[in-house]
Amino acid sequence: MQALNAQFLVSNSTVKSCPPADLPEYAFIGRSNVGKSSLINMLVGQRKLAKTSGTPGKTQLINHFVIQQSWYLVDLPGYGFAKVSKTQRSSWTKMIKDYLEQRQNLVCLFVLLDVRLEPQKIDLEFMQWVGKNGLPFVMVFTKADKLSATKADQQVAAYKRTMLKHWAELPPYFVTSSESGRGREEILEFIQNLNQE
Ligand code: GDP
Repeated sequence: MQALNAQFLVSNSTVKSCPPADLPEYAFIGRSNVGKSSLINMLVGQRKLAKTSGTPGKTQLINHFVIQQSWYLVDLPGYGFAKVSKTQRSSWTKMIKDYLEQRQNLVCLFVLLDVRLEPQKIDLEFMQWVGKNGLPFVMVFTKADKLSATKADQQVAAYKRTMLKHWAELPPYFVTSSESGRGREEILEFIQNLNQE
């Protein structure tokens, strides 16, 4: 699949200052270092659109990108930092919560999960909160190339079992690798279908 037309629009620290809610919007979130920037770059087919960074917590803003002049892709700050102060962490949490609660055109939230890790409390709690707020979300397992196919399947299956302890039904999920491009077509098709609804 070809690269998408993708342009960085603006970064904001509050939902109120975000661009007009005039296009369908899809936001990406996950723990710091989960591979969010790499995934965004892989999806749009540009190597340096979202800033990858070895420093957890470096992207602290709500970053809007316009894709194909028809939808917004939003790169949200990572959550669950170990290295930042509590005050900073809570203000980011408020920023994220406000955004998720108030952004009118948000169609779906992509919650990124490192396929190598056991279900993490912070991710499970976050998804519970998102679900309670009635916001549609999907799970995106990242870095699948770092495991054998069998092991990746096992990890996903274990994750599904954990989710089913808390949820009556599972959200849609994607298994991805920014290295191989795995999951790209599925995610783009998913977004395209929602855009056409
Ligand atoms: P972010 O902090 O969530 O934006 O994470 P980054 O995209 O900066 O990725 C964190 C680290 O994981 C970087 O060293 C990336 O090269 C690596 N990484 C991200 N996605 C993948 C992937 O799909 N496969 C592999 N092998 N490494 C990845």
